[in-house]
Amino acid sequence: MKAKASFTLTLFLVFFVFVHIKAGDDAMINDLPIQYEELTATDFPVALKKASKTCLIPMGIMEKHGPHLPIGTDLINIRAIALAAAEREYVVVFPPYFVGQIFEAKHQPGTIAYSHELIWNFLQETCDELARNGFEKILLVNGHGGNNRFLDYFCQAQLEKERDYVVYLYREPQDEAFEKKIQQKQKSGFDYHGGELETSLMMAHRPELVRLNFVTKESGQDQHRLDNLSNVWTGIWWYARFPNHYAGDASPANADLGKMILEHRVQLLAKTIKQVKSDQKTSQLQKAFFEKSKTPRRKK
Ligand SMILES: [Zn+2]
Repeated sequence: MKAKASFTLTLFLVFFVFVHIKAGDDAMINDLPIQYEELTATDFPVALKKASKTCLIPMGIMEKHGPHLPIGTDLINIRAIALAAAEREYVVVFPPYFVGQIFEAKHQPGTIAYSHELIWNFLQETCDELARNGFEKILLVNGHGGNNRFLDYFCQAQLEKERDYVVYLYREPQDEAFEKKIQQKQKSGFDYHGGELETSLMMAHRPELVRLNFVTKESGQDQHRLDNLSNVWTGIWWYARFPNHYAGDASPANADLGKMILEHRVQLLAKTIKQVKSDQKTSQLQKAFFEKSKTPRRKK
């Protein structure tokens, strides 16, 4: 009888400890920070697993945004979108990243325009370091238009040599129905930089950073200074058209419009995070490609 009682007690204890550890693990997984810099070394392997080895880098820049928005607008907006999306679909979000292409704003106060070598190497080494720490998927989510061409080429160049990770570049899908809804609410004609939409987005989550009373200090209208050319492109095109580094009219901006845009963009990004986390094909194809590239003439 005694032996049976102690056996039952042992069983109970083992069960109790197991449940306790399991509950502790669940609590740890549920409470995991999203932001890379907030993870402890103990959290790190758990976060890697929960994120399916995926790290998201929201990319911003330091550049003027008209007379009324903060210099870090792209960084602040894209991080808000990325963090909200990661709340819905867990992924580790890299610390504030503002190294990118912005030569065209060097004439304006506050621009941090690193050399093209540094911009490239910084991103490549960031990806390498993330991979060294166990991330196999890196999702670049760009918030700055001036980075677009650079990032396309950067991602294409990932095939230059064999790597044990995949760099995904997020391309926000077009949604005609949503765009129509926005157009019905939008009062300004166009919005390329610091205009009604971008300002509204900032007003939706950081209204204290928007100085709408400065909006009329400068013009965001197209100056059309290179209209003599139609079929060529030069790096000076943006300065030719928008020398104030402001393109649009932010005066009708409002938080309600911004909230619609924010929610829409968060939803879309969360969907993509989920897709990337479960994707196995890209890495398989990349591996096969590198393997075949070593001996392209041998048939397999
Ligand atoms: Zn911007």
